[in-house]
Amino acid sequence: MSVNDHQLPPERGIYCNRTLNLRSIKAVGYDMDYTLVHYRVDEWERQAYGYIKRKLLALGWPVEQLEFDPDLVIRGLTLDIENGNILKANRFGYVKQASHGTQPMDFSTQRAEYSRTFVDLAEERYEFLNTLFSLSEACMYAQLVDMLDDNQLPGVIGYSDLYRLVRASTDETHVEGELKADITTDPDRYVALNRETPLALLDQHHAGKKLLLITNSEWGYTRSIMQYAFDEFLPEGMTWRDLFDVIIVSARKPAFFSTNSPVFRVVTEEGLLEPCPKGIDSDGTFLGGNARFVEAYLGLSGDEILYVGDHVFTDVHVSKDILRWRTALILRELETDLLGLAEFKNDQNQLSKLMAKKEELEFRLASLRLDAMRKKVGYGPQPVTSVKELDNQVGKVRGNLAKLDQQIAPLATAAGAIGNARWGPLMRAGNDKSQLARQVERYADIYMSRVSNFLSHTPFTYLRSRRGSLPHDPGDMPLVADSAGPEE
Ligand code: IMP
Ligand code: MG
Repeated sequence: MSVNDHQLPPERGIYCNRTLNLRSIKAVGYDMDYTLVHYRVDEWERQAYGYIKRKLLALGWPVEQLEFDPDLVIRGLTLDIENGNILKANRFGYVKQASHGTQPMDFSTQRAEYSRTFVDLAEERYEFLNTLFSLSEACMYAQLVDMLDDNQLPGVIGYSDLYRLVRASTDETHVEGELKADITTDPDRYVALNRETPLALLDQHHAGKKLLLITNSEWGYTRSIMQYAFDEFLPEGMTWRDLFDVIIVSARKPAFFSTNSPVFRVVTEEGLLEPCPKGIDSDGTFLGGNARFVEAYLGLSGDEILYVGDHVFTDVHVSKDILRWRTALILRELETDLLGLAEFKNDQNQLSKLMAKKEELEFRLASLRLDAMRKKVGYGPQPVTSVKELDNQVGKVRGNLAKLDQQIAPLATAAGAIGNARWGPLMRAGNDKSQLARQVERYADIYMSRVSNFLSHTPFTYLRSRRGSLPHDPGDMPLVADSAGPEE
C-alpha cells in the first residue's frame, strides 16, 4: 500500500488507499492546525489541559494534583461516556482493549462488558478521539472518572454528565482568547517549525495548483501562526498570504462542507469584515462561507480538489461523504509507529515464525484428539495407535504448546506496545486493523505523517494504491500476534 519506492524512509512516505494522480488535482485545500502547522503536543495540550483544570477548580473541584499525561490516550480511541471507559476497537467495532478511567481493564471484565457490543460511532454513547486536540480532554476525562469512582467529585450524577462538563470546558478553553494568546506570545515553545512545508506548497503553487487555506481558527490566530511558521522560509518579499489563492478562516468545519453559510471578506489586518452576498468572487481572505462557494469560484468539481487535514471526521470523513473531494489525512503519530515497527522487525520475524510453529502444533493436537475420540467411541477410520499412547502424545504436544506460549508472550506484549506503551500502534487492534485504520481507508484517499512528505513525491506524482490483501492470499502471515486473548 505504501508509495515508498525511491528509498524514502517509511515515516516520510505517502500511503495510498485510492489511486490519486496529483497532476489531475487542480486545487489543494489545507487545514491549518496540526496540518500545515504542527504543535508540540506535550506543550500545546498541557497548556489546554491547564485551562480546563482551572475551570474545574473554579467549580470547587479538588483537581489541583492532576497533571496532563501525554501518553495516557492516543488518537483513534473511543470514549464510552456511559461507562467512563476508553476503548480500542477493531475495524468491525469489536472492543480489543479497554480501560476504565485510567485503569486498564482486565480481559474478563472487558469481555463481560463488551462481548455483545459493537462500537458504533453514530451512537451518542461514543466519542471518537479524532485529532491530537482530543488528547487533553480525554486525559482529563479518564482522570476524573477515577475521582468520580472515589466519590471525590461533588454534584456530578454520572459518567455522561462528567463527559459533557469536560467537553464544555474544553470547548470554552479553545474559544476564549487566553490559550491562543499564550500560543501566539510564545510560538517557539508550542510550534514545531518545518522549513520543508512552505517549500512543498511553493512547488504546488508553481506547478499551477490553486492553493486554499480552510481553517476553523479565527483570523488573528491564523495570521499570527502562519506568519511565524511560513514567512521566514519563503523567498524574499513573499509572505504566506501570497502562497494561497483563497484563505478561509473561522470556517466552521464540518458545517462548512454541508451548509450554505454566508461568507465575509476580511478587509483589514485587524479583521474588519464585509459581506459577500454572492459568495467568493475573487482571490483573498474570507471568513465563514461554505464549500460550494469554493467550488463555484474555482469552477472545479469535487474530484479535482484535494483537501488535506488532520481531523478524521471533520476534514476527511465529511468532505469525502458530502462533496466527494479527494482527501489526505495527516497523522503525525505514524512516524513513531513506523520507527517502532522498524526497530521491532527482527522480533517480528521471530514472532511470525513462532506463530507458524504454534499453528502447526495446534493442528497436531486437534488431530490427536480426534484420533483418540474415534478410537474410544469406535467409529470412523480407526488409528493403529492405542488410546493410552494417543493421550500420551496429546499431553506432550500440550506441554510443547505451553513452552511455545511462554516464548511468544513477551514478543506479543512488545508488539502491542509499539508507538504507545498502553495502547500500541494507531492502526492495529491486536492482529486486525483498528477502528481508526478502517476510517482512514474508507475516507482518506491518501495519508501521511506530515504535509512536507509531498516534497519528495513532487506535485506531478501518480500515487497508486497497492493490490489489497485478502485472508486467502497465498503465503499471507499474521503481522502481529494477538496478545488480547481468545478471539470474539
Ligand atoms: P483547524 O484544524 O485549522 O481547522 O483549526 C482547529 C481550530 O479549532 C483551532 O483553532 C482549535 O483551537 C479549535 N478547536 C479545537 N477543538 C475545539 C473545540 O473543542 N471547541 C472549539 N474549538 C476547537
Ligand atoms: Mg486541524
